[in-house]
Amino acid sequence: MSVKAKTSEKSETLNFSADVSRLLNIVANALYTNHDVFLRELISNAADACDRLRYDSIQNPDLIKDNPNFRIHIYKDTATRTLTVVDNGVGMSHDELVENLGTIAKSGTAALMEKMKDAKDPLKLIGQFGVGFYASYMVADKVTVTSRKAGSDEVWIWESDGRTGFTVREAAAEESKILDGARGTAVTLHIKDEGSEFLIDEKTKHTIQTYSDHIDVKIFQNKPEETAAGQGKPVNSASAIWMRPKSEVTPEQYTEFYKHITHGFDEPLLTSHWHAEGKIEFNALLFIPTLRPWDLYDPGRKNAVRLYVRRVFISDSIDGLVYPWLRFVRGVIDSQDLPLNISRESLQFNPVIGKIRASVTKRILGDLEKLSRDDPPGFITFWGQFGAALKEGLYDAAEHRPDLFKVCRFFSTHENGEKHVSLDDYVSRMKPDQKDIYYISGESLDMLRNAPQIEGFKSRGLEVLFFTDTIDDFWLQQVHDYQGKKFKSVTKGDIELSAPEEKDKKKDSVPAEHERLIKELKIHLGDEINDIRISRRLTDSPVCLVAPEGGVDMHMERVLKIHQKYQGETRPVLEINPGHSLIKKMAAMAEGGTTGEDMKDAAFLLLDQARIIQGQPLKNPAAFTRRMTAFMERGLS
Ligand code: ADP
Ligand code: MG
Repeated sequence: MSVKAKTSEKSETLNFSADVSRLLNIVANALYTNHDVFLRELISNAADACDRLRYDSIQNPDLIKDNPNFRIHIYKDTATRTLTVVDNGVGMSHDELVENLGTIAKSGTAALMEKMKDAKDPLKLIGQFGVGFYASYMVADKVTVTSRKAGSDEVWIWESDGRTGFTVREAAAEESKILDGARGTAVTLHIKDEGSEFLIDEKTKHTIQTYSDHIDVKIFQNKPEETAAGQGKPVNSASAIWMRPKSEVTPEQYTEFYKHITHGFDEPLLTSHWHAEGKIEFNALLFIPTLRPWDLYDPGRKNAVRLYVRRVFISDSIDGLVYPWLRFVRGVIDSQDLPLNISRESLQFNPVIGKIRASVTKRILGDLEKLSRDDPPGFITFWGQFGAALKEGLYDAAEHRPDLFKVCRFFSTHENGEKHVSLDDYVSRMKPDQKDIYYISGESLDMLRNAPQIEGFKSRGLEVLFFTDTIDDFWLQQVHDYQGKKFKSVTKGDIELSAPEEKDKKKDSVPAEHERLIKELKIHLGDEINDIRISRRLTDSPVCLVAPEGGVDMHMERVLKIHQKYQGETRPVLEINPGHSLIKKMAAMAEGGTTGEDMKDAAFLLLDQARIIQGQPLKNPAAFTRRMTAFMERGLS
């Protein structure tokens, strides 16, 4: 909120909101090598303003009757040391000037400020977030904004030295002449010493060309009245890059366009540019970034692909244009089929949008699959940044699941979780008699690598996939198999493991001494667990916990509870390893008639260690410590 300090009839002085002041402080004091970005921001605002008016004028052609051609002028005045950026776009009213240039309305700003506080390199963050208009203060010590909203006859002037506040006043007739005709905005920068290079035309020209070649609005380096008199040529090519044939666009131009729309410093990891024809017709130029945006998992994050209809910008937040699980994709889609005179809100229900979405999804997944073959390290970078988001699609979009599975990567017992594997890799390594795809899900790779439940699989050479993303437990509820092979949790149910190395031993019959032990354990642990049985999964550890067949898998239960999708509590099954010396000793104890407190303490210690190893909280840590101490004392004496 801006605070009103002083009001005269036509001029008022207002304070910046606190976050703007802090931002300005950082920007103005930045010893920043990349000063050019201020111009990129101002041009992008000017082009946005033209885009918006172009859209509004579809409904109301009178708005542009003074001049149907949109254009931007950027010129210097060495005498006054000023650089002025003029557009004949939509313009701003008094209230819009106060609101747009006095506060930061963008939702991400709070998060930006928070991060900036303890960032090593806050300027890098500015690059990622984009400081927009305020970047002007990198090169200017005073900025004057003159603006006339299209369709209004009032001209207002906003002015600030970028310190504590700004003034807004009505413009005199003479002052209004800076505008290009009867609408739009002029931003005049009073250049400080650090910005002197921008008073040299060649420097500005070069900057405009690097940042704005693809901008669909002509940019001139003279005054509007000079252009009107037929002087000067535009300095940019002013053609929408996405409409050009691929062969005419250089990699540098793609990268610059990417930076223009993302305000980012990273390079695109993947660029997809194509023209779709047939049932629906559109041009698309889409990018996958190299770096994950800070708010990828913010539930409020919307897709940011810009929708154009026959070169007219419509919106960069059309729900349903791309799937939420592709929300990291940036770029432009320009449709030939959508009507222009339709409200942005109703667009999301237009069937054309759904068709574009399906086609775009297929293309992106296809290109990712190609990337995985052509550039495996590049693909793994992608997977590390966006894999978890992409997997939401397994849950969300059944029709794209086969294509999604082709690009999903997981860790597994193969190479001990050091290497990403695909499901096809997994299938190719399956044993001849193996029917299922085994997996274990849990908090971290380290925990899963050491999970007792996978011991028996490893010793038999059966590969187990490691699932560590929360989303894994969700898609596993929807997806039951891959190419007819069931996904089977190794921490659930009684798994039939063929046991070649145990073939001499009697199968399925529980030896008498173990039967006795199981009976004793059940007496003490009966309330805590569902069952106790001899394990086939264990080779090294004495015990482990698994979910009963038909129950909810243990890690899944925890994840679902955190997300409040599940209330119940499944009591686990305790499995014991008959080959382990501790279990043998306890069986002997049970056989020898040790019951009561000693057996109870041992039983609970067994159960608690099984809980600990899979990262579950202990139900009664005090009791655990007491028992542990008692056993240690005995052991040490
Ligand atoms: P952003 O462009 O990301 O919204 P900026 O700080 O660059 O952030 O601009 C803030 C707002 O000021 C814009 O959203 C727009 O509403 C308004 N604005 C800035 N420049 C212009 C302009 N030349 N014409 C019309 N409105 C503008
Ligand atoms: Mg902007």
